[in-house]
Amino acid sequence: MRSVVLRSCPACGARLLGAAGVSWMPCTACASAWDAFAEPPERIPTFRPASSRGVAGPRLPFYVFGVGTRAGETRVFVPAYRAPGERSDADLGARLTVERYAAEFAEAPLGAAVARGPREAAALLASRRPKSSGGDAAWMALVSLSCRLERDALVEPVTGWRLPLAELFPGPILAGAPPPAAS
Ligand SMILES: [Zn+2]
Repeated sequence: MRSVVLRSCPACGARLLGAAGVSWMPCTACASAWDAFAEPPERIPTFRPASSRGVAGPRLPFYVFGVGTRAGETRVFVPAYRAPGERSDADLGARLTVERYAAEFAEAPLGAAVARGPREAAALLASRRPKSSGGDAAWMALVSLSCRLERDALVEPVTGWRLPLAELFPGPILAGAPPPAAS
């Protein structure tokens, strides 16, 4: 059985996603991540592609793992949102991994709420990392990618991937919603 630690977000008071023994906890509401075991709790840096800095609009969050392979480092993307309609072995994260999405990341507020904790993401990493990789990931980061809102779907512009809003949890943070707390 997996035990879940219930703590609340130092920024907004909403529930943090956490698992026993894992200090790294994303907030389910205000798109920040915290080391909840630090005294006082410390905000963990989050990222987005440097090229999309200042771009408004909805974003999708991912855990990105840096995994060493014979050919160098590969980035493995695991969705931090949930979309029950997506196959876990063929989701947008898997597509970004296969296409070797390689934007430079810059530290920035995430701007996207998260539905998956880091432990679950690490478990998913095990099933999707390249065969030639050895050992654990060298690093993990929470990254959000800008998307277009097209009627009833979010579209990730690099891959053209469509995610129906009705299948997306949590929904995107849209214009008019309160912005994530500044760091
Ligand atoms: Zn919060």
